[in-house]
Amino acid sequence: MISSKMVGLVKGSSVIRAMFEEGKKMAAEFGAENVYDFSLGNPNVPAPKAVNDAIIDLARNDDPIHLHGYMSNIGHDEVRQTIAEFLNECYGTKYDKGNIIMTVGAAGGLNVIFKSLLDEGDEVVTFAPYFGEYKNYVSNFGGNLVVADPNTETFQPNLEDFEKKISPKTKCVLVNSPNNPTGVIYSKETYEKMAAIIDKKQAEYKTSIYLITDEPYRELAYDGAEVPWVPSFYKNTIVGYSYSKSLSLPGERIGYLVVPSEIDDFADVFAALGVATRILGFVNAPSLQQLAVARAVREKTDISYYDRNRNELYKGLTECGFKCQKPEGAFYLFMQVPIEDEKKFVDMAKAHHILIVPGSTFACPGYVRIAYCVAYETIVNSMPGFKKLAEECGL
Ligand code: PLP
Repeated sequence: MISSKMVGLVKGSSVIRAMFEEGKKMAAEFGAENVYDFSLGNPNVPAPKAVNDAIIDLARNDDPIHLHGYMSNIGHDEVRQTIAEFLNECYGTKYDKGNIIMTVGAAGGLNVIFKSLLDEGDEVVTFAPYFGEYKNYVSNFGGNLVVADPNTETFQPNLEDFEKKISPKTKCVLVNSPNNPTGVIYSKETYEKMAAIIDKKQAEYKTSIYLITDEPYRELAYDGAEVPWVPSFYKNTIVGYSYSKSLSLPGERIGYLVVPSEIDDFADVFAALGVATRILGFVNAPSLQQLAVARAVREKTDISYYDRNRNELYKGLTECGFKCQKPEGAFYLFMQVPIEDEKKFVDMAKAHHILIVPGSTFACPGYVRIAYCVAYETIVNSMPGFKKLAEECGL
């Protein structure tokens, strides 16, 4: 028999994954070209050629023990040094390999962080709408996710509610920008104010609060929008990065953490993150992928592809009469649902073979998320369906 805890988790398993499976079934029944699956954030721009070239070259020419063997739990030294130097070039920082830990994607990195930092009953504050898996990543280690209400005007964090949600039990604050599901990039002003609030609360409660910034979409910012480097606003910041989206490698499970030397209890935290990597069973991030991304550290996905999709989708949906948050980054569009019941709206969309995710999955009912990391034709061909949907909703 499975554990009682898992019974609940299996039952409430990911809505997004369920839709993705349903999309595959519908594609088999109606033909892939007649199903408009906007459910999953699975990049459809191929990984840059340089990544595959690096993998081939490594497989052919690297020493097989170095390539396939165990290494330090925190990753290959030279890979971590390369990443640190790249970050220094980008952000004027002074990191070295002693600030970088290689992870099994962003998800692996967040689990390693919470394993290292949380005691039973500790709280992690995040902002709605948020990536639904956060709840699991926090509860995996006995923590409680506390959610600040959404600010549906701008979808920047609601800092008024945030201040009320910080308690003596708050161990971490978790942010994600560019944001899944809204596509909003949190601004410098947001981080300045957020840092001031956390500092004030830490002083009041005599605690140490870590700001965890989950950044798998850091490189996906449009119209030259700047994605602020969060450690420059708040000393106690740990950055979680992933190559899943920026290099289109989600199945390869590779990312890293940046642990600045200034954070509270740096040496203990860094050591704990390494041990957590080992004892959670990751042992280390995949060796071949570490070595490949280090060679492709300056490579980026073709963002113009997503940008074209973004503009087409936004234009099409607003012309239908839908109210949408224009995304500044990532590859999601958050759209207001024009009827009372958002789940009904999702079902109505499905009748037009359009698969979208209800906002309640992100703790923000009344909206849907549309992932536009799809073929351009999918967007164009879905528009008659969206038009009918709009008419059915009286728009
Ligand atoms: N965090 C956010 C906000 C995400 O959207 C995702 C994936 O969609 C993840 C983390 C997990 O990313 P990874 O594949 O790097 O584990």
